[in-house]
Amino acid sequence: MQQTGGSTISTQKPGNDIIFACAQCSTSFVVDAAAAGMTLICQSCGKPTTVPKPDLETAAGHALKISDLHHQLKENESQRTEITSYINQLGIQLHRWQLRLQTLNERQKKLEGDLATICGSAK
Ligand SMILES: [Zn+2]
Repeated sequence: MQQTGGSTISTQKPGNDIIFACAQCSTSFVVDAAAAGMTLICQSCGKPTTVPKPDLETAAGHALKISDLHHQLKENESQRTEITSYINQLGIQLHRWQLRLQTLNERQKKLEGDLATICGSAK
């Protein structure tokens, strides 16, 4: 009846063992599912600790949490897409302004060159 390679989360089917950690000293214990919800004395630290009820409550709680996390992931993803789109748009805009500035710089050089030529020949 031993289950190996499973998760450390204490969700097991009824009739199976429950794996749980002591609330005081975090030592892991395996108890029968019949002990769910009972308060036991920890064999390691001697303090009372409650065996979690594995199935319905925990499973429902996990399902709720999972659904909530999926929802948050989806929302996060949609915001990521939105921001990425903004960055792309601004990147294109930035590139346009840079090209414009480059054109203006070239024009300035040409105008200054023309001016220098005229001033030089006027002497
Ligand atoms: Zn303990």
